[in-house]
Amino acid sequence: MEVALREHIRQRARFRCEYCLLPEAATPFTPFHVEHIIAKQHLIDDSIDNLALACDRCNAFKGPNLSSVDPVTLEIVNLFSPRRDVWDNHYLFQGSVVIGTTPKGRATVQLLQMNAARRLELRESWLASGGQF
Ligand SMILES: [Zn+2]
Repeated sequence: MEVALREHIRQRARFRCEYCLLPEAATPFTPFHVEHIIAKQHLIDDSIDNLALACDRCNAFKGPNLSSVDPVTLEIVNLFSPRRDVWDNHYLFQGSVVIGTTPKGRATVQLLQMNAARRLELRESWLASGGQF
């Protein structure tokens, strides 16, 4: 990937994971990924609208998935899309914990394991160092 394109994507994301909002600065030894929102196995789309900045954990757990199951309603729902959806409309923070407030938000939190122990530790360290979400 071109350096200029990657930098544009990082700036557009305000240097945060577009799924869990972890800042790149919170994991200086683990570079964030530029991921395909709709994975290549579904659609070959390398346009900037299909690319998102993601931390390594969100990218790994999302994989090629486009949908998952809302743990409350058990309905299959589309995953959160950083391009089509607004983060604040689907999530909120309670301290270091990401709470899904909609079926889409809950399904994405669960699939991407946003509140796994190591991830909570990273967010707590970030907050303790004076960082914000
Ligand atoms: Zn993330």
